Amino acid sequence: KPVILWFRRDLRLDDNQALNAAHLSGRPIIALYIKEPAAAGTGPLGAAQAWWLHHSLEALDRSLHERQGELVLASGEALEVLRAVIKKSGAEAVFWNRRYDPSGISVDTHIKQELEKQAIEARSFGGQLLHEPSRLMTGNGTPYRVYTPFWRALEGAGEAEPPLEAPAKLRLAAQRPASETLKSWKLLPTKPDWAKDFTDLWTPGEQGARERLSAFVEDELKGYKENRDYPAKPATSMLSPHLALGEISPARIWDATRGLSNRVPAADIVHFRKEIAWREFSYHLLFHFPRLASENWNDRFDGFKWRNDDGDFEAWRRGMTGYPIVDAGMRQLWRHGWMHNRVRMIVASFLIKDLMIDWRRGEAWFRDTLVDADPANNAASWQWVAGSGADASPFFRIFNPMLQGETFDPDGDYVRAHVPELQRLGAKYIHRPFEAPKSALDEAGIILGQTYPKPIVDHASARDRALAAYKATKDAA
Ligand code: FAD
Repeated sequence: KPVILWFRRDLRLDDNQALNAAHLSGRPIIALYIKEPAAAGTGPLGAAQAWWLHHSLEALDRSLHERQGELVLASGEALEVLRAVIKKSGAEAVFWNRRYDPSGISVDTHIKQELEKQAIEARSFGGQLLHEPSRLMTGNGTPYRVYTPFWRALEGAGEAEPPLEAPAKLRLAAQRPASETLKSWKLLPTKPDWAKDFTDLWTPGEQGARERLSAFVEDELKGYKENRDYPAKPATSMLSPHLALGEISPARIWDATRGLSNRVPAADIVHFRKEIAWREFSYHLLFHFPRLASENWNDRFDGFKWRNDDGDFEAWRRGMTGYPIVDAGMRQLWRHGWMHNRVRMIVASFLIKDLMIDWRRGEAWFRDTLVDADPANNAASWQWVAGSGADASPFFRIFNPMLQGETFDPDGDYVRAHVPELQRLGAKYIHRPFEAPKSALDEAGIILGQTYPKPIVDHASARDRALAAYKATKDAA
């Protein structure tokens, strides 16, 4: 009797524990993906990630076809879909890899209980993380709240199991339900096609992920520690969207960083691994403190008086704030569905502190526009910037957008790549066009307030305003 292999955010055949167990069980496999209704607490699937999902499901289906199989697509409440497939196929088991967001956990726990009542074997597996979120705990048996000791524990946890290879052959069930069509799910944008520039940059699917990993290890890992903060340089792995939908496992990535010490400095390898560990840490936090997904982790921030001005929010979303590094980041996000990490921190600080807009509005916009939108990394990172998270950057650390731009984009190449109106402005004023003499603006063909916006706030006064609001919250607590 068949086993249902339920794919979720683990769209790969490589290093897939549930797949491996299903294969080893010798039962014929039904590969199933369910489009579930929007989950409470984690928010709906964003439009940019829906684009990615479409292509990723196509790629997974192709890999299964190479093994004489196919992916069955179904939509609806997962338990109902599973029951229907069980009834049709006579399956006696359902295998899946675990997810760790609060709504995913509650759906899965319920399904497990219900299936077991029907004497259906329901088994879940790890492998989406290097370690299960409850494996690394402090000496007192409590979860970590601070990154550095978490990293030390991860480093000291010993070498993880080597990644599993994808089975060369799969025994796919002959008796399987008819699949819905991907087209009918309407995951791609139609008019206008705002994702047209995604295609040149990204190759969704596990093959694309493996190629990206090899290219990164070959070309960019050396120098990563130094270069990773400069958004104009192609210096980071850009693996995040592949990780977000599980097209590659962290164990596979970790494994690729072994045995390189004769050609890549150890400092670069360690630094890259530390970033992978930030992802682990975000999941550790989300698992142990599920409120992180949608509420202030530190409830002292609950009384913070946000301004939440809609006009300011709109200017931020469109990349029309008048601060070039912020605008470049927001336009990169719109154009490519991705933004460099340094710039994510700058735009988030600007939204929360300069504009005093609730971090949750920024988090929701990122979720809708990022191809790598991830329930743990997105919420944990926004709360890190806001100062409301565990081990967060303190609220009073307010990024100065001009200085950040000048430090990390010294020639202005990143700004020029994404803000064409400023293309002809020299490095001296590229991060502060509002201070440029008229002659420099004329020469570059810029009319502030017409061809490019004037700053929507004055950074120095906005900073004072934010600090005063923070002090009021602190005093009231
Ligand atoms: P690399 O530098 O190559 O790092 C490798 C991997 O490590 C990344 O793919 C990612 O999985 C992990 N990683 C790197 N930096 C971080 C970090 N600071 N926190 C957690 N994991 C990290 N990342 C997401 O994957 N999804 C999100 O929705 C997301 N939202 C963010 C929101 C804000 C406000 C900020 C400041 C950061 C956010 N990040 C998010 C973290 C980080 O910016 C991205 O993971 C990174 O830019 C992805 O690019 P990369 O794959 O080239 O990274």
